[in-house]
Amino acid sequence: MEKTLIILKPDAVQRRLLGKIIARFEEKGFQILGMKMTQISESLARKHYAPHEGKDFFEPLIRYTTSAPVVVMALKGKNAIEIVRKMMGATFGSKAEPGTIRGDYAVSNRFNLIHGSDSPASAEKEIGIFFKKEELFEYNLTDIQWVYDMSTGDII
Ligand code: ATP
Ligand code: MG
Repeated sequence: MEKTLIILKPDAVQRRLLGKIIARFEEKGFQILGMKMTQISESLARKHYAPHEGKDFFEPLIRYTTSAPVVVMALKGKNAIEIVRKMMGATFGSKAEPGTIRGDYAVSNRFNLIHGSDSPASAEKEIGIFFKKEELFEYNLTDIQWVYDMSTGDII
C-alpha cells in the first residue's frame, strides 16, 4: 500500500469543485488518512515548488498557490501515487484528457486545480510537511475486501 499527498488548489476551493474531486478518489477506492483546509505560506510554497525555482512561471506559481485556502489530503491505496497522477491528468488543463480531473474541469495551464505527489520519496516528505502525526488516521475500512481481492494473501 502506498500513500500520497493531494492538494486541492485555490481554484478548486473557489470554484466549489471540492466535493466532485474528493468523490472521485473515494469512489475509486482510496482511503482518506487525513484531510484539512489550510492556507499555504509563501515560504512553504517556495519549498514545495523548489525544483521549479528560476523558471519563468515560478513567481506566478507561488502567488497562485498562496492566494487563497487549499484543501490537503493524504490518501492510501495500492499504487496510489501513479493512479492519482493518472486521475489528475496532464499538467496543463488545455492538454489534459477528458475523463481526468484537469481534463474535465480545467483549461488553464496554471490554474490546474490539483497537486499530487510524484514519487514515494516526495509523498513521504510532503505528507510530513502538511500533516502532524495526530492529524493522520490509520483505521479499517469495512469494505476493503471488496475493493481489493485479498483472499490469496496478496492485494490484487
Ligand atoms: P503539481 O506539481 O502542481 O502537482 P505537475 O507535477 O503536473 O503539477 P509541474 O511541472 O510540477 O506539474 O508544475 C507545477 C505547477 O506549476 C503546475 O501544476 C502548474 O500550476 C504550474 N506550471 C507548470 N508549468 C507551467 C507553465 N509552463 N506555465 C505556467 N504554469 C506552469
Ligand atoms: Mg509537480
